[in-house]
Amino acid sequence: MSRYFSSFYYQADPYIPGEQPQDRQYIKLNTNELPFPPSPLAQRLAREEIANLNLYSDPECKILREKASECFGIDKEEIVFFSGSDDVLNFAVMAFCDESHGLAFPDVTYSFYTSIARLHNIDYAQIKVKEDLSIDPKDYFGLGRTIILANPNAPSGIVLSLKQIKEIVMHNPDNVVIIDEAYIDFGGESALPLIGNYDNLLIVRTFSKGSGMAGARLGYAMGDKELIKDINTLRNSCNPYAVNRMSMMAGVGALIDQSYRKDCIERIQETRQETAEALRKLGFEMTDSKANFLFVKHPDYKGMDLYQDLKKEGILIRHFETERLKDYNRISIGTDEDMKKLVEMIKRLLKEKL
Ligand SMILES: *Cc1c(COP(=O)(O)O)cnc(C)c1O
Repeated sequence: MSRYFSSFYYQADPYIPGEQPQDRQYIKLNTNELPFPPSPLAQRLAREEIANLNLYSDPECKILREKASECFGIDKEEIVFFSGSDDVLNFAVMAFCDESHGLAFPDVTYSFYTSIARLHNIDYAQIKVKEDLSIDPKDYFGLGRTIILANPNAPSGIVLSLKQIKEIVMHNPDNVVIIDEAYIDFGGESALPLIGNYDNLLIVRTFSKGSGMAGARLGYAMGDKELIKDINTLRNSCNPYAVNRMSMMAGVGALIDQSYRKDCIERIQETRQETAEALRKLGFEMTDSKANFLFVKHPDYKGMDLYQDLKKEGILIRHFETERLKDYNRISIGTDEDMKKLVEMIKRLLKEKL
């Protein structure tokens, strides 16, 4: 820290992203990216937009918002775009938390929530998930805090039903409930049908996972017009051109090309199923993940050991060395071929070990 660093941020605790080592070619199953390229239409529209890079991007993302409102059946005043959903989450916390509105989220979830809370010095409660890592909706009733829930949750992949989400939203009429649907493409029910009925619901989504555009940095929030207006007040105070021209047009292309997205997702779902079965046969236990990753543990293979042994063999998975998660590893679903290599390698490692 330099001696000039602002005391406003002494308590910051930056998020640690999944490693991106460059020392060799890895089969990368550690950051939940889609193993397929973006839709050809998204690629073409982004490429064509390069010629306009001398001009600022549209702060209102008008074309993209119109396309999205058509796709999701909501008003275009009920949606706002950002540079990735991490960006949205940050602005949502800035907009809906203060000294008297702290945050609440599960103790096992996306660790970025803690980073944002600390950045803005927001008091946060980490609500314990159950032994099986699932969430009890009742734990979130009337907390008097702004709530963030990832659905499907990370890194467990476990989903809450639409009915459960609705109950949580209904039991917190005086607080905003943020549902992070980063993985909703791969399974579970979106809270989208609730928009229009509840003014305290904010849905956050991204093109990073289901649309295969993690590098484009494109995310969005959907919710009541007034919530979106509040977020826009802050966004326009510090980052009005948050979405660049190429990413915006890639987003338009991805929204038009729904059949490509559905195709990619079906492939991931099938591969998830096959990989889960193969790993169960090898003695792994896992959560019921509806996301594009599996969260697995083995009675005879320590989480850390499996992670390290696979890394030596050129396969990267994600390990979290925390008390509740250290037995597990999170394995992103790659191509069929990637996952077959993974299963074969684990088979070999198990044989050497046992
Ligand atoms: C990946 C992820 C995000 C971040 O998505 P970006 O749009 O790439 O910033 C948000 N929430 C969860 C739960 C995620 O796993």
